[in-house]
Amino acid sequence: MSFDITILGSSGGPLEGITCSYILKPSYISYKSIIEDNLSQYLIAIDAGSGLNRITEIITNEKSNSKESIANKILSYYEDSLSIQHYIHHSISINHHYNICTEINSSPIELSFKILNLINTYLISHPHLDHINGLIINSAAFHNQSNKSKLVYGLKETTEALQKYIFNDIIWPNLIHESNGISFLDLIDIIPNESIQLNEIYKVIPFEINHGTKQYTNLEYKSTSFLIKDLNKNQYILIFGDVESDKNSKFPKNKFIWESISDLITTGRLKSIIIECSTPNLPDQEPRFGHLTPDSLIDELKILQNIILNKSDTSPTPPLNGLNILITHVKENKFGKEPRKIILNELNELNEKYNLGCQFSILLTGLTYTV
Ligand SMILES: [Zn+2]
Ligand SMILES: [Zn+2]
Repeated sequence: MSFDITILGSSGGPLEGITCSYILKPSYISYKSIIEDNLSQYLIAIDAGSGLNRITEIITNEKSNSKESIANKILSYYEDSLSIQHYIHHSISINHHYNICTEINSSPIELSFKILNLINTYLISHPHLDHINGLIINSAAFHNQSNKSKLVYGLKETTEALQKYIFNDIIWPNLIHESNGISFLDLIDIIPNESIQLNEIYKVIPFEINHGTKQYTNLEYKSTSFLIKDLNKNQYILIFGDVESDKNSKFPKNKFIWESISDLITTGRLKSIIIECSTPNLPDQEPRFGHLTPDSLIDELKILQNIILNKSDTSPTPPLNGLNILITHVKENKFGKEPRKIILNELNELNEKYNLGCQFSILLTGLTYTV
């Protein structure tokens, strides 16, 4: 197992405070060591719809030895939800806690600030509020004694939007490093397909993806998918921001990603993909708002499968066999029917129908997945 990914939020809204944000670390180092040895190179945040509040809640539950977990609490909002295990493929191990409290004697809030302090890098897929809410509110705590600002990476469209519409001294104070000399955060433009070395642990290749069209201009809205490499272990994880199907897109971009990663899958260096599936399948006439449904996600995976099949002479097992597809950004609904359960059923049926061999799991807020 290569990565531990803590889900600070995996909802596609409209409930606030549990929207998309993940903290990644290599599995070979524990949170306890990271905190005790003050190691700032291991933790990176991908999107920041949620943040410090969820970290504090995870630690509070751990400290009080509470059986109650955030994941359980959110599932209990629906009467027909199933137990946590039902949503997670049996090959993946999960943890409700960071396992840091037994020997580190600090309050939950102290510990969560310590963790926040050790996250230096944020990769932001796109500037929709459900992906930056935590970044904005938490930024007040970004200033630290070492005077190192947080590095916030995004496409030019993302960094410009953050500067112009958020950190503009109106919506939120201008905490951007360059403009006032105070160290809270730096915005760094990323160029699609150009690899960035974050530090001695991580390298990232950002891919540009489509996330629907803007209502008034009819121009495509850009989002990002991040291919993250652990340089020590030569292992990868691919994390998508909000994304639409190539089928619905004037300028398809997903196929390029599938072509770029196919060799990593066949050589066993990429075992997990985090990707959205916002709603169960919809009638044809319903708008998708730039998101995926089980049908369109499976269409995308079939394209990946075909790319791999076309490259190899004979493939006795399905080429995506054992690939973890971790579903995020499920939208809550007002009908009271738990949407994750429906999505997972629809995906598993199609997975079987097309003999893809993928291992689907739903990402649940508050859990750490070892993948
Ligand atoms: Zn979005
Ligand atoms: Zn979103």
